[in-house]
Amino acid sequence: MQIYMNGEMVPEQEARVSVFDHGLLYGDGVFEGIRAYNGRVFLLREHVDRLYDSARAIALEIPMTREAMREAVLETCRANGIRDGYIRLVVTRGCGTLGLNPYNCEDPQVIIIAAAIQLYPKELYETGLKIVTVGTARNHVEAINPRIKSLNYLNNVLAKIEAINAGVMECLMLNPQGYVAEASGDNVFAVRDGVLATPPTWCGALEGITRGKVMEMARETGYPVEERVMTRYDLYTADEVFLTGTAAELISVVEIDRRRIGTGEPGPVTGELLERFQRVIADSGDPI
Ligand code: PMP
Repeated sequence: MQIYMNGEMVPEQEARVSVFDHGLLYGDGVFEGIRAYNGRVFLLREHVDRLYDSARAIALEIPMTREAMREAVLETCRANGIRDGYIRLVVTRGCGTLGLNPYNCEDPQVIIIAAAIQLYPKELYETGLKIVTVGTARNHVEAINPRIKSLNYLNNVLAKIEAINAGVMECLMLNPQGYVAEASGDNVFAVRDGVLATPPTWCGALEGITRGKVMEMARETGYPVEERVMTRYDLYTADEVFLTGTAAELISVVEIDRRRIGTGEPGPVTGELLERFQRVIADSGDPI
C-alpha cells in the first residue's frame, strides 16, 4: 500500500510519524473518513471542507490548499488502485517539545490512507442493530466540541467499550444535559408519523456528511425533517430509528435499551432512504 505523507507517496512500511508528534502525545490533530464508490470519491468537497473547519477550530494551519488536498485524495486512490474503498485523511499537529504548547510544533503531518473498507456484516442491514445507552456522556460543547472531528476520540472509545461490554456493537450517547446526541461513530435519526427528526449539532452531534445528505434526500422525497432536541423517550416511541455515517451509510436500529423500536424490524422509511442513497452514490462524486 502506498501512503500519502506530506506531498509524497511512500510505501506503508516507511510511512511513520515521530513519537514526539502531538497527534500521538495528545490526540492533537484532525481527521476525516471518506468513501470511494465505483471509481469516484463521494462528497469529497464536503469532507475536505469539514477537515479544514475542524483544523480552524483547533487553531491548526493545514499547510496546503483545499484544492491540493482534494487532488491528493484522488492521487492516493489512483496510487493504490482503489475504486471502492475507505479513505482516511489525518492531519496531526506535528512534532514540538514534550509540553502541550502547540505553537512549538512547526510541521503538521498530512497523511492519506486509501484502503478497502470493513463494513458492518450484511445481515445487520436486514435484521437491524440492537443498541444500548451508555453512561459515558458525549463531550460538552465547550470541552472538545463534538462538531470538531479531532484525533482525540477517547470519549467515543469509552462509549464503544461500554457497548461491547454490554454485548452490542453500537450505542447511544447522551449529552451532559441528558439529551440525545449521537452514536459512538454515527448520527441518529428517529421517524414518527412520516417525519424525520435528528438532534441539532449543538446537542453534541458531529455535523455528519451522511446526515446532511440524508436530510436533503428525505426532504426531496417528501418527508419533513426536523432538527430537534430529543430525549430517549422520542427514540423509544419512534416508528423507526436509524444511524447514518460514512462507513455505515444508513442502518436500522430495532432495539434500544431492551425496548423494541416500532415493529422490531427495519422500517419502510429507512429502507426507502437507503435505496435512494445507494442510487445517489452510484452516480455522483469526483472521478478518481
Ligand atoms: N458521529 C461521529 C462521532 C462520527 O465519528 C461519525 C463518522 N464520521 C459520524 C457521526 C457520522 O458522520 P459522517 O456521516 O460524516 O461520516
